Amino acid sequence: MCGIFGYVANGHVSPELVVDGLRRLEYRGYDSWGIASLNAGQDVQITKAVGKISKTSPEQLDRLRDPATLAMGHTRWATHGEPNETNAHPHRSQSGRIVVVHNGIIENHRELRHLLESEGYVFKSQTDTEVIAHLLDRNLRYTHRFDEALSLTVLELKGAFGLAVMDIQQPDRLFAVRLGSPLVVGVDDGRCLISSDANALAIYTKQVIYLDDGEWAEVTREGVTTYDFHRAATGKIAEQIEIDVAASELGSFRHYMLKEMYDQPESLRNALRGRLQRSEATVRLAGLDDLGERYRPERVKILACGSSWHAGLVGRYFFEELARMPTEVEYSSEFRYRNAVIEPGTLVIAMSQSGETADTLAGLRESKRRGAQALGVVNVVGSSIARECGRGVYLHAGHECGVAATKSFTNQLVVLLMLAVHFGRQRGMSIRQGLELLDSLERLPELAEQVLKTDEQIRQVSEEYVDATNFLYIGRSMEFPIALEGALKLKEVSYIHAEGLPAAELKHGPIALITPEMPTVVIATQSFILDKVASNVQEIKARGGRIIAIVSEENDAFHSLADHVVTVPTAHDFVSPILATIPTQLLAYHLAVLRGCDVDQPRNLAKSVTVE
Ligand code: GLU
Repeated sequence: MCGIFGYVANGHVSPELVVDGLRRLEYRGYDSWGIASLNAGQDVQITKAVGKISKTSPEQLDRLRDPATLAMGHTRWATHGEPNETNAHPHRSQSGRIVVVHNGIIENHRELRHLLESEGYVFKSQTDTEVIAHLLDRNLRYTHRFDEALSLTVLELKGAFGLAVMDIQQPDRLFAVRLGSPLVVGVDDGRCLISSDANALAIYTKQVIYLDDGEWAEVTREGVTTYDFHRAATGKIAEQIEIDVAASELGSFRHYMLKEMYDQPESLRNALRGRLQRSEATVRLAGLDDLGERYRPERVKILACGSSWHAGLVGRYFFEELARMPTEVEYSSEFRYRNAVIEPGTLVIAMSQSGETADTLAGLRESKRRGAQALGVVNVVGSSIARECGRGVYLHAGHECGVAATKSFTNQLVVLLMLAVHFGRQRGMSIRQGLELLDSLERLPELAEQVLKTDEQIRQVSEEYVDATNFLYIGRSMEFPIALEGALKLKEVSYIHAEGLPAAELKHGPIALITPEMPTVVIATQSFILDKVASNVQEIKARGGRIIAIVSEENDAFHSLADHVVTVPTAHDFVSPILATIPTQLLAYHLAVLRGCDVDQPRNLAKSVTVE
């Protein structure tokens, strides 16, 4: 959460560069923004505003056009203190010497605030961040060496932080500090940049240094030197990244969410590319190579949050049915504070689009400590989970800018299915079944293209429900988690309350909610259980509920029952939940647009959840 962007350059670059960088990072937080810039011999200039940086007024931009040797900025996702101008970053120390932007949470901010207040520091904001600026300022009084003071300061802070720090007495350098919140340094000709993610740097440079936890970088325009928190040099050098900048452009689409739903045929193709091995009727995932051909985990534990958790629940069906591997799916945030038993032979899959999800990262560390083999399933190349796992399977979904997960979710399903085929083939899955699954995976991108043709139909259906205040989503078997994900998507982008349920659970309570004002979305492509779902739908119909059914082409059981039927091409039972996801995304999108919501940056949310 929160985006940090900064640069150190010669005197010809203007802080507009930071505006541009922050716009690319805005998906990480967008309740307020601020920029500090500095030229030698002058005082630091700080500009702050409430709201999105993409909505900056021309007058505000004007102030950021004059060149500065260094500048740094922040788009905030407030944790401590409401999103007003005073709480917006950067924060400046009382003496004015230190300026800080921060991503994360300082957990011991209260104690530090009391200590600093008792020494005469007066706080202006309600943020936890302000303590960092004053504390560094204070430590500089005790030791005159900046690196010593910085080391003392970061060792005193508890919690998670990615920081960019400016010392106005050193107008030729910035300090980038990382503990638990991501930070990347880009090395360019005659200038260096700091960013919360590598994507925002890729337009300027492909040479980057990923900071590790417990590391800081001293960034000048000539280069970067990295240290650990005890001031020992860590000697990091820049590595080349491969990021296709054009793929993140909006093009002719109205919103990133729409573009990313339409990216799905291609993103699914990218997830499958080079991984299906027909000659052996299996899937080959290079990320598993280091475990060796003989690696046979006995059970799987998936750690995830949000949409990734829903994908994990579908994965449980895949692993249990296809590989007979007992599988548990856990909210990372619960797992990390539970004294979890990790049995020998457990493969822990840490799943996160960003690869930075704080709880999943902590859960991963805890499970490694307890001896589990760990595998990362992430989208962002070089992210913390990818690096800490040391092995994993990339989603290859491409950059996802919309805050609501769409293409990353369907790619997670595909990757989990591929993993289940891989382990299934080691454990008695026949060549025939293996080939059947490979065939259906190969056809998936083309079928996804066909599903996208339901877009206009779903837009029209949405018009009828634009005033709904609640929705139910139901499904059975692998489509129960798809119902959960459909409901989450609707809540996230349209702010309509929705609940996902296993279809058979309705009669154990929630059916009391059914009225003509409570629409139900039924997801029913699982051929083996269709009749059972049809009975559940009859029960809703009998109580006057309105029904939107997402079914396979072949299935006509719902035509007389549902108010609206959206069909997806008939596919293998293990693949059709992936197809059935797409209409739920389109429904959430159209309802949100019709209700005038900001679909790409919904209220209160941010992508890449780097706080607990
Ligand atoms: N905890 C800090 C604040 O509330 C930083 C939040 C962020 O990461 O944007 O200001």
